[in-house]
Amino acid sequence: MQKEKNRPTCVCESCESKTFSFLSINKHGVEKWKCSSCNQIKQWCICCDQGWIEHGVLEEKDIYVCDECEALWLSREEAGGEGSAWWKYTEERRIEEPWKKVDWVKDYEK
Ligand SMILES: [Zn+2]
Ligand SMILES: [Zn+2]
Repeated sequence: MQKEKNRPTCVCESCESKTFSFLSINKHGVEKWKCSSCNQIKQWCICCDQGWIEHGVLEEKDIYVCDECEALWLSREEAGGEGSAWWKYTEERRIEEPWKKVDWVKDYEK
């Protein structure tokens, strides 16, 4: 797999920068990137190859959900491995209007 140093089709939703620097890859093959402008950490979804995996807190649990295909994991390290799906996760827990209940978290490299 060829690694691109930036992904011109993607935009950081925090600062609208389009350049990202590659940091690392987890055991499931999910790439971790850092926005070159605001330093926010992002993970590229390997399920759809089209979206960022966003970190949020829903009912006091950390969730990592792809903003395109809505695949969901419970930790950054597990992202790309066996996970769930947004609709399934929220349905199983009978969470009503879940999108409104998520606190989105911005992670920055320390
Ligand atoms: Zn940014
Ligand atoms: Zn995805």
